[in-house]
Amino acid sequence: MNVSKRTLENLSSLNDKARAKLEPFVAAAQEVMVKYGVKVEVISGLRSWQKQAELYAEGRTKPGKIVTKAKPGSSWHNYGLAIDLGLFKDGQYLDSENPRQADKLYQELGQLAAAQGIEWAGTWKSFAEGPHFQITFGLTLAQARSQMERNGQDVQKLVF
Ligand SMILES: [Zn+2]
Repeated sequence: MNVSKRTLENLSSLNDKARAKLEPFVAAAQEVMVKYGVKVEVISGLRSWQKQAELYAEGRTKPGKIVTKAKPGSSWHNYGLAIDLGLFKDGQYLDSENPRQADKLYQELGQLAAAQGIEWAGTWKSFAEGPHFQITFGLTLAQARSQMERNGQDVQKLVF
């Protein structure tokens, strides 16, 4: 697939087993979006617990709007098992330029993801996130957290 440096770096940051599922999904997503003239990028992959703490503060203890419901260790990004996509049209970030169209396109990508056993956050009740996709292989957050405490915070050492 024709991947940008940004997409490649974010895919490379993932747990290898998750990457093996998410990379073909991204390739398929890029293919189905061609007919809309939309480019798909992976704009977020593995996120450190420190970075997660900074995001969690946005809209709470720092100005701005709330961007995540997840505290450090509560996001699957913190385990390299999640990605955020970004949709781009004519070089514009569709998610902010035309959120309604982006929402529709994420619906389509959500169906594509489901067909590949990948979870889409667009249907989440408490905090729906159209751009967010993850695969957790049946792991719970509590299990993932305790593994990370014992394995030196190495997402490649997660056991499913
Ligand atoms: Zn996400």
